[in-house]
Amino acid sequence: MTLVPFDDRDGWIWLDGALVPWRDAKLHVLSHGLHYASGVFEGERAYAGTIFRLRDHTDRLHHSARVMGFDIPWSAEEIDAACAAVLTANGLSDGYVRPIAWRGSEALAVSAAGTSVHLAIAAWAWPSYFAGNRMEGIRLTMAEWRRPPPDTAPTAAKATGLYMIGTMSKMKAEAAGYADALMLDWRGRVSEATGANVFFVIDGELHTPDPDCFLDGITRRTVIRLAQKQQMKVIARPIEPEEIGRASEVFLAGTAAEVTAVREIGEHRFTPGRVTESLMQSYDALVRQGDAEVRQALS
Ligand code: PMP
Repeated sequence: MTLVPFDDRDGWIWLDGALVPWRDAKLHVLSHGLHYASGVFEGERAYAGTIFRLRDHTDRLHHSARVMGFDIPWSAEEIDAACAAVLTANGLSDGYVRPIAWRGSEALAVSAAGTSVHLAIAAWAWPSYFAGNRMEGIRLTMAEWRRPPPDTAPTAAKATGLYMIGTMSKMKAEAAGYADALMLDWRGRVSEATGANVFFVIDGELHTPDPDCFLDGITRRTVIRLAQKQQMKVIARPIEPEEIGRASEVFLAGTAAEVTAVREIGEHRFTPGRVTESLMQSYDALVRQGDAEVRQALS
């Protein structure tokens, strides 16, 4: 597959209040967000023309910005409408939507005083996050980098700066032939993959780490609800790496990754099975429902 560079595509991007031609959606190299990681973003997926749990993503975007000390000068209603407009303008009914907010180029110093806040929203087709069939199972290696404690980084925000350890970990994993890396947290407990949360099936129950120093994913919360509706016991708790070998099934959950089976983590092997398949199917069905049905299904 040839990758078309993102700055060499056609289409429309919403930038600070209006749709602009894709190629014109530029920012200055002296933008605060680039130098000091004063940026927050979202990753959303549209299915059959509707963005799944859009308002939850928009609320998280606003929340992430507040954690970082700035306000995005557009309301949730305006951002939701802009996301939908970007999809339509690009002729997409299924696709990935990326809103990003950052501090501008009026001032360039650690202090961001005097900078304005910008918002851009792009969308493109991104059929699958990992290559291959999601039920086949991907191979993960253990990351060398750990997720930082919540008093050293804004871990509850989807902040651009937090992705540097993810990118380093993912690049190293890919260079070694793996699809992704499983990260531990600063205490040495299992946390998440570089862009998705992780679930383990142990003795027929679903276990997932407490999201106390990483993103409590919207997909994670969706999957927990779907599992509970299927009368499954779901336990969010601290998980030690030594427990990984006790799992019969492992899967990742994230907006881009959706539900993806894992067949290998380091020395451990897993066979994607009934629980993963059932939750994958329920998730795939749910995301194609309208907003009201989704709310009802998750209530
Ligand atoms: N963790 C990280 C680091 C992520 O980038 C993502 C994707 N946003 C997730 C977890 C899953 O979050 P969500 O289900 O809300 O997409």
